[in-house]
Amino acid sequence: MKEIQMVDLQSQYKHIRRKIRKRVKNVIKHSAFINGDETRIFQQNLAHYLGIHHVIPCANGTEALQIALMALPLEEGDEVIIPAFTFISAAETASLLGLKPVFVDIDPQTFVMDPKRVEQAITCKTKVIIPTHLFGQCVDMGAIMEIAEKYKLYIVEDACQSLGADYILREGSGQLQMGPFTYDYRCTDKGIRKKAGTIGHIGCTSFFPSKNLGCYGDGGAIFTDDDDLAARMRQLANHGSTKRYNHRCIGLNSRLDSVQAAVLNVKLPYLDYYNRKRQEAAAFYDRAFISCMQLKVPVRCQYSTHIFHQYCLLCRSERERNALRFHLENMGVPTRVYYPKPLHLQEAFAYLGHKAGDFPVSEDICKRIIAIPMHTELSAKQLRYISSAILDFFD
Ligand SMILES: *Cc1c(COP(=O)(O)O)cnc(C)c1O
Repeated sequence: MKEIQMVDLQSQYKHIRRKIRKRVKNVIKHSAFINGDETRIFQQNLAHYLGIHHVIPCANGTEALQIALMALPLEEGDEVIIPAFTFISAAETASLLGLKPVFVDIDPQTFVMDPKRVEQAITCKTKVIIPTHLFGQCVDMGAIMEIAEKYKLYIVEDACQSLGADYILREGSGQLQMGPFTYDYRCTDKGIRKKAGTIGHIGCTSFFPSKNLGCYGDGGAIFTDDDDLAARMRQLANHGSTKRYNHRCIGLNSRLDSVQAAVLNVKLPYLDYYNRKRQEAAAFYDRAFISCMQLKVPVRCQYSTHIFHQYCLLCRSERERNALRFHLENMGVPTRVYYPKPLHLQEAFAYLGHKAGDFPVSEDICKRIIAIPMHTELSAKQLRYISSAILDFFD
């Protein structure tokens, strides 16, 4: 059996090697490494896939969030609501821009931002909410958009882990009012859907190699249906300029280079297939662990598909989780903890004055969660091996 990895990018590459080589070679041949055709084509391809007007490619997911926040009419000290349980990027960029990250606790079932907590955290300084569609499943965006409309807030979606996931609005067709937006929908047999990251004012994603759509280096993108925001974000990503050597505002150098765009142009048509492979592996795990009393399998909410950027199990205690990790390591099964520490207890945010106990759900989940191997190349044999290694521990 092949060595088990958390993510197996090499095996994935083997299936698309010829296409990748041809396309990357072509970039080198033409030497348009920055702002070349591949990048322009990728914008169009991704916009089409997402069903959105504007896609602005940029250097990585963190800068996507930064550019999104820079594009909004915000002032120093304005508050940005962010889940306490996620990767640091959103809170980090808010902080860098002189905004105040305001953390909220998560839903213990789905691990994503709890809309009830969001409403409780709103003050007269709140301007933005950044819901993270964590592990590949959407936040309850219907509830978030209602809050956005009620309090006139901007929504910037962190879709770094959920590219291709569907938010399911409802069954039926026609026009739908959600928050400040009116949507026309074509109905599918599985209800009305929107892609994660296309529901709020701005969506952000990352093409970090291990993401569901990963390139071979750093990459990111921002999406919006708003023409003005799109123009502003395009300018911000390009040194605050629309015309060469003419800078209208302070921006940054944030680009997706042509080699990465070429890789993404090859991989984007596989994204749905890749996500399906992840869902199949998740279904296998579910069946294996559903009757194991010591473990809780990931909960699927009805308003979202789950594309399993991570497959995270919940143990009964921190001690049991750590012992399980040790046992699996000895069996050749790698595991990770996403995330071992909530944001409010990170040293970097000590200046906000939080203490243990402030966000009890996030703190509890950090102690008990464990991510097991999840990628597009898991064989039936590997899945069987991983599952029995886990069940053996509890026998
Ligand atoms: C990966 C990730 C980011 C950051 O993306 P980079 O491209 O690494 O900067 C931000 N938020 C979440 C939730 C992520 O998973």
